[in-house]
Amino acid sequence: EGNLTVQELADRLGVESSEIIKSLFFKGIIATVTQTLDLHTIETVSEEFGVPVLQDDIEAAAKKTVEMIEESDMAHLIRRPPVVTVMGHVDHGKTSLLDAIRKTRVAAGEAGGITQHIGAYQVDVPHGDEHRKITFLDTPGHEAFTAMRARGTKVTDVAVLVVAADDGVRPQTLEAISHARAAEVPIVVAINKIDKEGAQPDRVKQELSGLDLVAEDWGGNTVMVPVSAIKGENIDKLLEMILLVTEVEDLQANPDRMARGTVIEAHLDKAKGPVATLLIQNGTLKAGDVLAAGPILGKVRAMVDDTGKRVKQAGPSSAVEALGFSEVPTAGDEFEVYTDEKSARAVVGDRATEARATRLAQQMASRRVSLASMS
Ligand code: GDP
Ligand code: MG
Repeated sequence: EGNLTVQELADRLGVESSEIIKSLFFKGIIATVTQTLDLHTIETVSEEFGVPVLQDDIEAAAKKTVEMIEESDMAHLIRRPPVVTVMGHVDHGKTSLLDAIRKTRVAAGEAGGITQHIGAYQVDVPHGDEHRKITFLDTPGHEAFTAMRARGTKVTDVAVLVVAADDGVRPQTLEAISHARAAEVPIVVAINKIDKEGAQPDRVKQELSGLDLVAEDWGGNTVMVPVSAIKGENIDKLLEMILLVTEVEDLQANPDRMARGTVIEAHLDKAKGPVATLLIQNGTLKAGDVLAAGPILGKVRAMVDDTGKRVKQAGPSSAVEALGFSEVPTAGDEFEVYTDEKSARAVVGDRATEARATRLAQQMASRRVSLASMS
């Protein structure tokens, strides 16, 4: 059960994270700053630094985000690609930008560059002497964030905020900023439509600076890239900047474990049955795996990747469309793979009971309210 990261604990105790790492080292635990610690470890380390830990405090922090990385993953962590959501006001060019980014894979000569729509896709980006991947969620960013917020799941690592240079900051721009801030996700601004006659990128920068998003070239620390989604201008630069921004986040996952992640999209297909796009956030998902997505059981019958290719497995930060669920799972729900059907069933059973209890409590509460309002 994940609670606080090493960094969060260090902040709480008012010591350097290296002090915590050292203390853990002497307990035989090799830790990184982003690593999540269990309750027992937090208590032990806190006592060592002479700070009593408030149980409520830890629980509150734990509720904030559902951690995908567990202590047992620590020895197996490797870098994983960042997962990006594109947000912004209607008509500012979110869809066009996602299309333009998707097209860069054709340019890069990647096989199957033309994608089928599965709700997410990956692109390869040159980075120094190597290539790095970035995963883009293709679902409307606002919905993804709302679902995330409701469940406390952290799905995206960066939000790309699209602002049209000929229109500036609008209501949904503000909404997008508040979503990203609530989720504590860094924002990269794409100032779009710079090809248009009435484009005023500096006006956009000025409006954003009033919202505490100050461009780097204006002395702030928000990355802003002027782009034209339609002309494909500066898309490479935007991708490069996304990598740069996420580099400091030290994004990691353990590919050598059973997969867990989040349902990105799901629907009922007449021929195939329930179809779900799964974002793998930790571990590797394999064909034949038994899983539970929220209260829904499944056994992966087949998977296709974002190029429409049948795949046998999928690693951290990749998305696949999977067949084999008993019912249509809910977008935003977490999924997790289990060793066998029996253990998956047990978890799902507990969840169903829990859901029933919550529903019942809600019904009773609303009945109380209506009775109260009658008297
Ligand atoms: P969304 O609602 O944010 O997904 O916006 P769309 O991608 O659907 O774009 C809205 C309109 O703006 C469409 O007519 C696009 O062709 C146009 N558009 C998007 N990006 C650009 C751009 O870079 N330059 C110009 N001139 N038009 C753009
Ligand atoms: Mg759109």
